[in-house]
Amino acid sequence: GRPGCECNTCFSGPDCSLRTPNCTADADSGNPLFLEPYWRRHAAASAVVFSGWHRISYSTTDGLFQSVELENHIRMLHRAVGNAVVDDKHVVFSAGSLQLINALVYALSPDANDADAPPARVVSAVPYYGNYKKQTELFDGREYEWGGTTAVWANASRNSTDRFIEFVTSPNNPDTQLRKAALGGSMAVFDHAYYWPHFTPIPAPADEDVMMFTMSKPSGHAGSRFGWALIRDEKVAKRAYSYVTESIMGASRDTQMRMLKIIKVILANLRTEEDIFVFGHDVMRTRWRRLNAIASRSRRISLQKIPPQYCTYFKRIRDPSPGTHHLSFCYSYAWVKCEREQDEDCHEALLKANIITRPGVIYEASKKYTRVSLLKSDDDFDVLIERFTDLVNAEKYAA
Ligand code: PMP
Repeated sequence: GRPGCECNTCFSGPDCSLRTPNCTADADSGNPLFLEPYWRRHAAASAVVFSGWHRISYSTTDGLFQSVELENHIRMLHRAVGNAVVDDKHVVFSAGSLQLINALVYALSPDANDADAPPARVVSAVPYYGNYKKQTELFDGREYEWGGTTAVWANASRNSTDRFIEFVTSPNNPDTQLRKAALGGSMAVFDHAYYWPHFTPIPAPADEDVMMFTMSKPSGHAGSRFGWALIRDEKVAKRAYSYVTESIMGASRDTQMRMLKIIKVILANLRTEEDIFVFGHDVMRTRWRRLNAIASRSRRISLQKIPPQYCTYFKRIRDPSPGTHHLSFCYSYAWVKCEREQDEDCHEALLKANIITRPGVIYEASKKYTRVSLLKSDDDFDVLIERFTDLVNAEKYAA
């Protein structure tokens, strides 16, 4: 059971342990509840309590909107995990990394006073995280506009004055591929929301000029709304900081205090039996195996194929003998393809089997694809597995 939980339609009761019969499995959102059991195990150590008088000011005594101690802990976390080079980077906080999309597009766009500069085109390769387009369109203006998919520009003749801001998501949402920039010579924003050891192999620390991170996926604290950018160039960092300052006067001070505590607990448990990445990796790998075992019996649905790679992070902390447990088989999302001709719309086909997924068209991909989130709670995942098992078992009789 999960005392104090917020139940969804499949569960009820004070600890969400009562099953609603035949309910629809909802695997739409990337809500990272799979980490809730970890934080229940560390309930006391991760608690934050502060009185009503504490930190009510808009800013710190130095007039800053960012806690220096939290910034130092974020740097420590990246160094300990080995997923990003932080020494030559500026850190800019935001309310979730969602806000960074606009902050970074603004920061990388031509100056509003530069009347001759054509607007920067914001692009991404299919299938891409739909918020790059949505967020950019909110502010489409003279300095920048949504420019569509990279495929449109990769082969087109480009002018030397053309300015591109490419969002590169690595690992990608929805198909979990590690990605490189598609448009050479353009400015790129690397969204590393999932570049943590429980979701992906980390071949090397990321060292791009502009990188986005969020607390939502590594620790699961999506509701705290905390993200940060690592930016090499000081001028770009200042512009991103001014965007956050002008829109919300800095990330919530309460959130910053909670994040500091969470990172301290993560750091204190790294490379122990209670390492959050070991916990998360075990959950992700088990879930992927269960779903993959069902999909591999099916001629109707298939999952993305990604060759497993060694997880350098786990190699350092686990049994040093070479073995399959160093290989990463863990993915945050299943990118499902419907193989039968009559299943033209994969999202609709799964919906008929009582499985809610996120349609491929949201990622500007084909209707033959749909995304299944593996990040939700254990209970949600169990319901999902039941629905998929029913779907695949029914194939035998439908043939
Ligand atoms: N980038 C990617 C690739 C994501 O998948 C998400 C969340 N689904 C975000 C950014 C935004 O996350 P948040 O605003 O919670 O930091």
